Amino acid sequence: MQGKIIIHVDMDAFFASVEVRDNPKLRGKPVIIGSLPHERGVVSTCSYEARKFGIHSAMNIKDAYKLCPKGIYMHPNFEKYKSVSEKIHKIWDCYATTKEAIALDEAYLDVTKKAKDINGARTIALTIKRRIKEEIGLTCSVGVAYSKIAAKTASEEKKPNGYYEILTPKDFVNLVIDRDVDALYTVGKKTKEKLNNNGIYKIRDIEENKEKVIKLLGKRGEFIVNLSFGIDERELKEYDPKNVQQVSREITFQKDVSDYELLKDVLFVLSISVASKVKELGLYGKGVTLKITYNDMKTITRSRLVNSCKYAIEIAKSGISLLEQEELKKVRLIGIGVYNLTNYEIRQLSLDDIIYEENHILKDTKKELKRLKEKYNLDFENNITKLYKISILFNTIEYMRKHI
Ligand SMILES: [Mg+2]
Repeated sequence: MQGKIIIHVDMDAFFASVEVRDNPKLRGKPVIIGSLPHERGVVSTCSYEARKFGIHSAMNIKDAYKLCPKGIYMHPNFEKYKSVSEKIHKIWDCYATTKEAIALDEAYLDVTKKAKDINGARTIALTIKRRIKEEIGLTCSVGVAYSKIAAKTASEEKKPNGYYEILTPKDFVNLVIDRDVDALYTVGKKTKEKLNNNGIYKIRDIEENKEKVIKLLGKRGEFIVNLSFGIDERELKEYDPKNVQQVSREITFQKDVSDYELLKDVLFVLSISVASKVKELGLYGKGVTLKITYNDMKTITRSRLVNSCKYAIEIAKSGISLLEQEELKKVRLIGIGVYNLTNYEIRQLSLDDIIYEENHILKDTKKELKRLKEKYNLDFENNITKLYKISILFNTIEYMRKHI
């Protein structure tokens, strides 16, 4: 094997596995993390025992319940998963010269320099598996390969607790040639549909219809054709908080909301959480985006560019003015976010201006918190940092909804 050596690591049923690790009574049972069956929402992760019932991520929780009424349903505990994830990433960092983190539980590791050859890479991969088992108490699946796509394919190949190697483009092609086009990661639902509509179902069909695929998908088509031959030159992108494209928070109400004053207040409370995250990253947003799903499941997103914003009250104000342009209908889900994140202030303000402005914003924020306190009988002012915790944020909003 010449060239790059890339490892793809993916924790097995991460959220569910953490819960089982911490509560042995759950072992061997179908554990479903996400919403609870009487709530609205979806499955976030589920154990392999639950998958045997046909349950999968992103499935409507009501459908999951129909398939497996005896399952154990739990809310996710993101704070816990985040702290477990940090420990896992520390192990990965020991072996990678570059790490591209994909999720809390998934990353590509470039081990070319440290491994030197395939034997070295195999040792590293198996060491990572062993250390995660011994030090964290969880299993993961690991793929070793010559490229990103092959490494990801390899780690999926023997899941859970798997290990697999794909050492050459030829091995990759032999493995996947008769699979559906979306076995090439990066081919999503829409691209698959487009290809299918043009008679291209299998990866073999992509290889045999190169020109057609390129004509259909342009530059992306070229990339997909290359992947189908196992050619993937992409370098790993080291995680950089500045690459975070958007910070947003959204909530699915337990009952549809048609009170637009309540929705505006909810946007402000969600914005407090968005602003805290943006601040933690040390960034500013240059765009605000509003998302609404109505009770007929139609979803709209509206965005607008702003000068720069980082305070909850600024984010909420932009969101509210976007909301005001929409027709009044029953709302199932509402979300707000900032995008176009950047790490410098666009406007050139003097220090006096900044102090004046910040005082102003502080005053407005306090006023708004006081108003909400009176309206909902909620003590925001002293507990505002608690809203950074997602579970408390959601409970607070549900409390507001019931209070109306
Ligand atoms: Mg995973």
